[in-house]
Amino acid sequence: MLPSLVFDFRFFFTIICAALASASAAKAFHKLISILKAMKKEDLTQDVQERLRIFGFNVLAQKKLFKDFWPGLQHTIIFWGFIIITIGTIEHVLEGIFHGFSFQFLGPVYSAIVFSQDIFHVLILLAVLFGFYRRLILKPARLPSDPAHKKEALFVLTLTGTLMLANMMTFSAYVFAGYEHAAGYARPISTFLAQIYAFLGCSPEKAMLIAHAGWAVHLATVFYFLHYIPNSKHLHIITAGFNFFFARLDNKGSFKPIDFTNESITQFGVAKIQDFTWKDILDSYTCTSCGRCNEFCPTATTDKPLRPMKLIEDIKHYALDFGAQIAKDPNFEPPMKLVSDESGITFETVWACTSCRACVEACPVGIEHIDKIVDMRRNLVMMEGNMPAELQNTFRNWENQSNPWGMSQDTRADWCRDMGVKTLAEHPTAEYLYYVGCAGSFNDRNKKISTSLVKILQAANIDFAILGKEELCNGETARRAGNEYLAKVMIDANIEVLKRYNVKKVLATCPHCFNTLKNEYPEFGFTATEVVHHTEFIQSLVDDGRLKLNALNKEQRIAFHDSCYLGRYNEVYEAPRSTLKAIEGVELVEMPRNKTKGLCCGAGGARMWMEEKIGKRINVERVEEALEQKPDVIAAACPFCQVMVNDGVTEKGKDKEVLVKDIAEIVADQL
Ligand code: SF4
Ligand code: SF4
Repeated sequence: MLPSLVFDFRFFFTIICAALASASAAKAFHKLISILKAMKKEDLTQDVQERLRIFGFNVLAQKKLFKDFWPGLQHTIIFWGFIIITIGTIEHVLEGIFHGFSFQFLGPVYSAIVFSQDIFHVLILLAVLFGFYRRLILKPARLPSDPAHKKEALFVLTLTGTLMLANMMTFSAYVFAGYEHAAGYARPISTFLAQIYAFLGCSPEKAMLIAHAGWAVHLATVFYFLHYIPNSKHLHIITAGFNFFFARLDNKGSFKPIDFTNESITQFGVAKIQDFTWKDILDSYTCTSCGRCNEFCPTATTDKPLRPMKLIEDIKHYALDFGAQIAKDPNFEPPMKLVSDESGITFETVWACTSCRACVEACPVGIEHIDKIVDMRRNLVMMEGNMPAELQNTFRNWENQSNPWGMSQDTRADWCRDMGVKTLAEHPTAEYLYYVGCAGSFNDRNKKISTSLVKILQAANIDFAILGKEELCNGETARRAGNEYLAKVMIDANIEVLKRYNVKKVLATCPHCFNTLKNEYPEFGFTATEVVHHTEFIQSLVDDGRLKLNALNKEQRIAFHDSCYLGRYNEVYEAPRSTLKAIEGVELVEMPRNKTKGLCCGAGGARMWMEEKIGKRINVERVEEALEQKPDVIAAACPFCQVMVNDGVTEKGKDKEVLVKDIAEIVADQL
């Protein structure tokens, strides 16, 4: 039993610390929540079961964090350790207020909690030491190294270490002194450390004084954390769970369409911070500044102004700086525009993104970067007419000829003139529609991919047809360029044709067509029973024995380049690799950045139609990585990648030695 003087100290200490920290935290959280309320509404409450699944995988199991194993393990230890130790902290607080309080009434559960706490004190301390080691010695390139970020990270590690040391000091002294809350429970670490007091010849009374000091330090640190969390990047401790639970379930490969028939909508895209939805701002609150997104972003690694981490931090800073005033007065005009040099979200930042999804894939707290960028592009294009000059021509080409090159729509089917390919108008009962896409129809290099696929389909006796002149651009690139209106015009026209022919199964050579038809067209009113990319289709033909592939005359090393829209957006990684491996004589080699971590070619997000004036060219960066594998062939599965990788190989002066071929071309050559 504690003497009353000590009890009085504990009581007043707890009450004062709790009152100060709670007042500060309540003020900060009130501001954060009022900012969220001032943002655009978005209903993210449907399909609770799926949300709980996402929450379970990513919060409880910390799945995304394990993509980087050691930091993932470190974080998981700290996460689970804090949950267990927090039970002890609550007990500490209540004990401070209600003399003698304990969760002992929980019986065996209490024993298990006490045992786990004792173990986690050491595990967390080790995790903290690992954190210092990474920050100060290893210094991984992805961790922001500027003084502000570094100071904050080291400060939090110090606070966490202090919490653990204070607890260890308290409980080992309790055990030594035989304090009733500690005695009789399995506390292996505290029992071991208690020997130190005996070794030092400490009396039980002195040990209890040390325990009180440890208790006070622990509690003061806990309450400091309570004040600190809402005012720092450690806000993610609170928000990450909500961020995963309220994830956009339809987000992978899709954007929210705009209802152009709704006359009450007068603002398209994001011009002001309050045009973002509350979820966009919750995303920004949740950023931990871990730098994982920067590590894989092709623009960040080639010295362009877009750094996804900085973008999210800039959105957060803007929201924090002006959101509270906007919450009070929706007409409040911040002194700087959202997209401006002053805000840090520059015009160049917004237009640099290739929509490759590497950032979203890497982010451990479920932040979605691309929607925000496309939303800002939507405003720039549709409201302000402010876009890179090159895009204006491309938009005009789409408007006039429904293809970005501006080639005559009448020539769309010329690539297969002598191949006996029928259109759906000629063969409306065809099992598959081969949706060729603009690149496969108009670009000379890509026409070879289309003709290769036709040879394969004909060799396997597949019943297919094309749309010919009735096919329009699928609208994917115009959407990513922010021109949702133009995209919708093309999408609606395509869907009208697809529905007229009652199309059920679609085959595409372009991952952008594939992704859009599969993941975006349903939101516009067309759902096929099957949308398949040619690499998956070819693999199934090979597996079924419907395609027999001859061995290569001479062995070849082939490096496969993952397309972002095939891989990260649709998780098709194995089909192209498996087809290549099925060809005798192929030695498949991997680049270091492959599959989920594959580096973009630089063409996505409408970047194909914009100049790349800043930093190193992304396609050159990718080709250099491929050339390090000493390949005979670089294989691709996307017409845009084909063009970009080809250009990169030419720029490196290797076009005489290294071929760039699509999977369809490689297979067609072996028939
Ligand atoms: S989508 Fe790709 S290019 Fe755009 S910010 Fe993310 S990683 Fe960078
Ligand atoms: S956006 Fe995600 S990946 Fe990027 S720094 Fe923030 S938490 Fe890390």
